[in-house]
Amino acid sequence: MSTPPTVAALTDALRAGTTSAGEDLAVLGERLHARMAALYPLPRSLTGPGVRATLDLLEQGLDGVAAIERHEVPTGTRAHDWTITDEWALRRAWITDTTTGDVVVDTDVHTLHVVGYSVPVRTTLSRDELLPHLHTLPDRPDAVPYRTSYYHRTWGFCLTQRQLDGLGEGPFEVVVDADLGPGHMTYGEILLPATEPPPDGEEAGEVLLSAHLCHPSLANDNLSGLVLVTELVRLLAAVPRRHAYRVVLAPGTVGAVLWLSRNADVLPRIRHGLVLTGLGGPGALVYKRTRRGDRPIDAAVSHVVRRRGGEVRDYSPWGYDERQYNALGFDLPVGRLSRTPHNEYAEYHTSDDDLGHVTPAELTDALVALVEVVDVLEDDARPRNLAPYGEPQLGTRGIYPTTGGRAASDAVMAMLWTLAYADGETSLLDVAARADLDFAAIRTAAATLSGADLLDGLG
Ligand code: ZN
Repeated sequence: MSTPPTVAALTDALRAGTTSAGEDLAVLGERLHARMAALYPLPRSLTGPGVRATLDLLEQGLDGVAAIERHEVPTGTRAHDWTITDEWALRRAWITDTTTGDVVVDTDVHTLHVVGYSVPVRTTLSRDELLPHLHTLPDRPDAVPYRTSYYHRTWGFCLTQRQLDGLGEGPFEVVVDADLGPGHMTYGEILLPATEPPPDGEEAGEVLLSAHLCHPSLANDNLSGLVLVTELVRLLAAVPRRHAYRVVLAPGTVGAVLWLSRNADVLPRIRHGLVLTGLGGPGALVYKRTRRGDRPIDAAVSHVVRRRGGEVRDYSPWGYDERQYNALGFDLPVGRLSRTPHNEYAEYHTSDDDLGHVTPAELTDALVALVEVVDVLEDDARPRNLAPYGEPQLGTRGIYPTTGGRAASDAVMAMLWTLAYADGETSLLDVAARADLDFAAIRTAAATLSGADLLDGLG
């Protein structure tokens, strides 16, 4: 059986456990996790070669269906209230105990071991001189903390409390082999153009998807969003689209502000948007509404997340780049999708946010949810019942399951709910909410009714 490649067919296939290309979800999950593993050791920061290498690897995962356009913006460039800071290129940072000759801390072992944006240093220090430059998590003695110092020039190392407890007497040779100076800030952008006319009553527009790419080896708080948004592009490239999909892969905060400052012409075209981060790890999905809270993206994602047992929260001006997109001067309809939000899980911003913290099943679960959201954005409509004088005879039209029994099946109920509310004003998403059914079920029912000439206006 082959179905035409559409977002609806893709959604239905994913909900049934495969992609429309026939790949099993478990296999897809392993593939996404392997991509995270390849990205994990790259020395990402606000700027520098780790960011560029990350974009290269993400583009490989797109299998040629779309390109990642790289933007290199000179340091010193103004972006609204921000100035692009110096570029940081880390080669390696390490501490050697000169008494034993042991390398006791080393970024070749873990990229979190150096404070991000540490100034270059090569010196020998006593233990007492070194200690103020060391950061640990006493409450989580086996984890390395994530620390940065983008705007205050200093250097430092992050290590486990156990490493610190076992530190010898020194003296210690300390090396941060890095360049910090004029250069560029790098961000990537993917644009999948629309292939179809926009939904009824809408002007042609774009869906903005944004993920930060500035964290080093942190699996959930960085790589989950990056691999999922690029996989979503790969899937959407194969189906007709009524919206364009624009993906921004930029360093957090300043990168988003930089993108906003350079795309004033694009902003009026953005109809819906999502910041994607923290989509792995245990816990149900959590949607954070847009600042206004009543945008179509809020309704679409709230429906999908609630149907999947997740949670919907109001906007707050703290978090990821939704803060920038929702800022008063832009006021874009951009929500945020994650699982357990930042700061609410113990592994957050530590070396315990590793590849073991994010499972393939969590990644595919989030991917299916994202495609369900796209299904709503692409396929929602306000159809009209063409046989409103009583309940039409579904049986004579061959769309009433003949094997039914006592209770009406979900498929029949979805058709009856759709007929009951298809007044040309009520959206399929509203019908789904009233019916307490998934949007996909109502969308399927509407297509069946439309095929039997009982409904029009599906767009
Ligand atoms: Zn973070």
